[in-house]
Amino acid sequence: MLSIVIPIYNEAAILHKLYDRLTAASPSWKEDYEIILVDDGSYDASLGIMKAFAEKDPHFKIVKLSRNFGHQAAISAGLKVTRGEAVVIMDGDLQDPPEQLPIFLEKWREGFDVVYAIRTKRKEGFFKKLAYKVFYRLLAWISDIDIPLDSGDFCVMDRRVVEVMLQEMPEQNRFVRGLRAFAGFNQVGVAYEREERAGGEAKYTFRKLLNLALDGLFDFSTFPLKLAIYIGLFVSFTSFLVGIFFIFHRIFNFKILGYSPTDTPGLATLAVGIFFLSGVILIFLGVIGEYIGRMYLEVKRRPFFIIEEIVSHDPPSESQPTEH
Ligand code: UDP
Ligand code: MG
Repeated sequence: MLSIVIPIYNEAAILHKLYDRLTAASPSWKEDYEIILVDDGSYDASLGIMKAFAEKDPHFKIVKLSRNFGHQAAISAGLKVTRGEAVVIMDGDLQDPPEQLPIFLEKWREGFDVVYAIRTKRKEGFFKKLAYKVFYRLLAWISDIDIPLDSGDFCVMDRRVVEVMLQEMPEQNRFVRGLRAFAGFNQVGVAYEREERAGGEAKYTFRKLLNLALDGLFDFSTFPLKLAIYIGLFVSFTSFLVGIFFIFHRIFNFKILGYSPTDTPGLATLAVGIFFLSGVILIFLGVIGEYIGRMYLEVKRRPFFIIEEIVSHDPPSESQPTEH
């Protein structure tokens, strides 16, 4: 069976379109399927519409989270409910077209454990595209594992990868595409054109997007911490050279371009030096703080999602609210 996980946050405007496209595309998947719509604390009509889907169509299951936990947590909640041998993650705004799935499933049947989508073209604004490009390259450069460039969450995963993600990766900060890359197994990328949102507004605010980017950078790398050492070494080495220069200058008292460092009191140099170094120190205090904050979150062991209700046609044992 195929399980499709779709996080939904205030998507009432496009849910019917989503239902129609999924249902129309479903014969091409050539599998029995379940579609798990995770309601991530929507406050529009989404939940009611989704419940109606589940009532008229046994393929649909609704997982209602107790509040808005965010896209990545919603995906994790959905994964927990899946039962299929193959598991798909896709967005609810039809940017990841369900008609593309046969190509992905083909690869999965060939024996790949993870088939992830690589976004070749994005139909988004210039700055957003640029920001994505820079982010993925920076992430690939500093992260300790190979997170494929321009790969989003859209993917097909084999059951065993999903089990690894659910059982062996208890972390609170869920950067799903990173965890997926970390899991390993047989992975392959498939290029696709990311479509425009089918309707409604983007639910990722700038702040949420920035947090996602920071999760990616901080959760898969300690490079920012090492950067403090590198910059520290560079600054110390440079000041060592400057020190030597001053000693030589004392001894030989030469002029450079008719100028001698002892001609001026050097206030500007000192001021710039102090501001620069204070800036560097503050930045790295912040970086250290970021890691400590993340450790604090991890140590508390709070659930990163809470399921309030599951609506499905399955036997009742499945539909009991569970926590993770
Ligand atoms: N989403 C969610 N919780 C959130 C924000 C978004 O479940 O807090 C869902 C949203 O409904 C959509 C998917 O995540 O199905 C991707 O969101 P969006 O299209 O806004 O992101 P973008 O495509 O702009 O990256
Ligand atoms: Mg979108």
